[in-house]
Amino acid sequence: MGRGSFEIIKQIVDNILSTIYGIDDKCIICDEYEDKDYICEKCKKSINIINIESLITYQDEEFISYSLGFYGYELKKLILKLKYNKSFLAGKILAGYMCDFILENLKDKVDILTFIPSSKSALKSRGFNQCEVLCKYISKNCKIPYKELLYKASDSADQIGLDNIKRWENIKDSFIVKNKKEIEGKRVLIIDDVITSGATAFYAAKAIKEIKANEVFILTAAKSRV
Ligand SMILES: [Zn+2]
Repeated sequence: MGRGSFEIIKQIVDNILSTIYGIDDKCIICDEYEDKDYICEKCKKSINIINIESLITYQDEEFISYSLGFYGYELKKLILKLKYNKSFLAGKILAGYMCDFILENLKDKVDILTFIPSSKSALKSRGFNQCEVLCKYISKNCKIPYKELLYKASDSADQIGLDNIKRWENIKDSFIVKNKKEIEGKRVLIIDDVITSGATAFYAAKAIKEIKANEVFILTAAKSRV
């Protein structure tokens, strides 16, 4: 077994142990200071939670999207740790902030949570869907049920590197709704990690709205300025 594989396994074991027992007393973001909440006071203060509200409008339809803050610094570090280092602790922390947002701003306005599905290839290479991880933790914290309502129709090309217009074209018709009986008349909040052009969130929301959902909105950990 190569050194690289050993490092990966060690990282996974560390993550599991720190998640279960909280034995890792280093700050998850800066790796320096110790804190019982897994984030040191300095990083906690630096996480710029500003609760951004955006309107995603396209062809006479619009959906409201909320984000904790911009995709940079501490928020970005947490998202990357969840996504690429399989740090479910980072996911738990992000979900904690997202749940706080829901309880403060959307309390009694959401019936059901769902999440943006991963493409089959992303799921295969990563082994999990980071949006599903966030959604499960939020559901548990906020005591709002969640249901898998969407799946990807086919593996559309990666959104990275596409300009804005192409992103919208690329993602169109890529979501299929399942568990339709769970949707009618419900207020659905879609959980996503990062919103960029808004195309993915828009078409996911549109697909759910078409099954006679009462209301559909989006909550993401961060909003990318790009
Ligand atoms: Zn720190």
